[in-house]
Amino acid sequence: MTTPPLRLDSIASHAGRDGLAEQGVHVPSIDLSTTNPVPDLDASGLSYETMAGGGRPVAGGGNVYARLWNPTVARFEEGLAALEGTDEAVAFSSGMAAMTAVILAAKSEHEGRHVVAVRPLYGGTDHLLGSPLLDVETTYCIPAEVADAVRCDTCLVVVETPANPTLELVDIAAITTAAGSAPVVVDNTFATPVLQNPAQFGAALVLHSATKFIGGHGDAIAGIVATSTPWAEALRRVRAITGSLLHPLAGYLLHRGLATLPLRVRAGQASADKLVGWAVEHPAVERVYFPGLSECDPSGLVGRQLRGPGAMLSLRLAGGYDAAAHLVQSVRLFEHAVSLGGVTSLISHPASLTHRPVPADARPDAGVVRLSIGLEDVEDLRADLEQALTAH
Ligand SMILES: *Cc1c(COP(=O)(O)O)cnc(C)c1O
Repeated sequence: MTTPPLRLDSIASHAGRDGLAEQGVHVPSIDLSTTNPVPDLDASGLSYETMAGGGRPVAGGGNVYARLWNPTVARFEEGLAALEGTDEAVAFSSGMAAMTAVILAAKSEHEGRHVVAVRPLYGGTDHLLGSPLLDVETTYCIPAEVADAVRCDTCLVVVETPANPTLELVDIAAITTAAGSAPVVVDNTFATPVLQNPAQFGAALVLHSATKFIGGHGDAIAGIVATSTPWAEALRRVRAITGSLLHPLAGYLLHRGLATLPLRVRAGQASADKLVGWAVEHPAVERVYFPGLSECDPSGLVGRQLRGPGAMLSLRLAGGYDAAAHLVQSVRLFEHAVSLGGVTSLISHPASLTHRPVPADARPDAGVVRLSIGLEDVEDLRADLEQALTAH
């Protein structure tokens, strides 16, 4: 008899927990060893060589050294891969370390150093692609221009959806078709695997800043890429060589957080939806950006690609920069801080902070504030925004 596949919430609370009962424990142990005893010189040598090449530890050879393999981090990776529906996942010390590894792996796996980047993107990603650091040549474009921008030396197409900070939606299947044989990485940080699984639409690589919703408590910086086994091997090679590791304590926290990810995302989303209903009527608000509004989703991707509008929204204030600066400095319950996806609500001004390194013509409007909705009572959040908009 075959068991039916588990649904999302069951995967979130169970994936990456195999073998615990055999170990006689209820939760995974945290393995902090940097080095490990060598059980057998030949087997361990083979294990070392296999892992340095991106593979998994070889039976009888052990994990050798924690830059190559850590069992606590591997459990988090297994959990996230199960949620994204990919073969594997590879965790990194930050979202930017993950993006760097994706670019380096793409350059080494494909001939060519050309990257096509669909704007808008997270400011740090835009900055990395535009800098000479990784020696890539980047063509920035809008989704409709991807097919023309791709060349025979294109090693990667980068897209983010919903995008930072105005929550533009990009049709992932249309991008992967337009990209042809060039691999596509989708930054899925805003949607989380609860709302969107880009691999289903042909994305070769699904990237998360796990610092945000996946961690969800503002206490761990991390990145993770869900992908196929060949890509996972290429990414682990980069990780082993460059050392951009996730610490096992963070790996433990992130794995633990997966269990509540669906609940957290849905609760924030329900409150965001209510706040949008209030904001669209508010005279100080010129425009609301939220995937649940039909004008923000012209091609009907919510329901088809994205299972819900998410817990992020942005507001463009009628009073421009001055009104935005006043709002972020007048809130009391919202915290004025960058980052997103945590249990407490945050408000930020992207043009001044996260998108500062982005060239002026691609930077968000100075009247835009971005809100990340947490788990507070939505009436308290609404009252806070109301008082901050009217405070003098
Ligand atoms: C924060 C963020 C990143 C970068 O992640 P870090 O963990 O801060 O390095 C990348 N993409 C998006 C969409 C983000 O919000």
